[in-house]
Amino acid sequence: KKIVIAIDGHSSCGKSTVAKQLAQQLGYIYLDSGAMYRAVTLFALRNKLASNGTVDEQALISRLAEIKIEFRVNATTKQNETYLNGENVEEEIRQLPVANHVSPVATIREVRAEMVKQQQLMGQEKGIVMDGRDIGTVVFPNAELKIFMTASPEVRAQRRYDELTAKGQQVSFEEILNNVEERDRIDSSREVSPLKQADDALILDNSHLTREEQLQWAITKAQE
Ligand code: C5P
Repeated sequence: KKIVIAIDGHSSCGKSTVAKQLAQQLGYIYLDSGAMYRAVTLFALRNKLASNGTVDEQALISRLAEIKIEFRVNATTKQNETYLNGENVEEEIRQLPVANHVSPVATIREVRAEMVKQQQLMGQEKGIVMDGRDIGTVVFPNAELKIFMTASPEVRAQRRYDELTAKGQQVSFEEILNNVEERDRIDSSREVSPLKQADDALILDNSHLTREEQLQWAITKAQE
């Protein structure tokens, strides 16, 4: 029987890696809800509705209807990629300008309401793994399996740093750690859908687990 799997947790703790591999193993669809908030943020940056860490909330709300987000499968990698108004923005939404503005964008009630609505539509089909911050609490409160992932800020910043420098980006560890901690702070303290564990979520602290160990753990839980 196919189910809905919700994976929530802090930024950069490896949610998407586990979620992607789990979906692949189970033959499920993987949906990255963070990519949707990132795409909205990219739209805001491109249209000068966000800069220097702040967002013009009213202006962005008034233009929400102009934002069309889709996931399309890359024929070669077989992975979902994010499209903003028909353009592949998978790379651009992972860069620091978007990372530095996404939390304030994600605090906007109207933005969340629209994203949640679209995510629920995408989840009507069973056999999905969706990762984010509010999937087990708000988007799919009835998900059959909820996983809450966490790892220490230093471990997360180090992973993110390795990832970005491997791609040749010039970043400092300090800058990344600040970004990770700042996003945690905003995500957990915001008024709308703060990041918190669902009562029925299983905790996966992966500070000291390999990818393979995390995947095996999740597969076991999905098959229980
Ligand atoms: O998961 P990822 O780091 O790509 O998410 C980017 C940002 O989007 C998070 O820092 C968070 O502010 C926001 N987000 C959210 N709710 C989700 C997914 C992401 O608020 N379900």
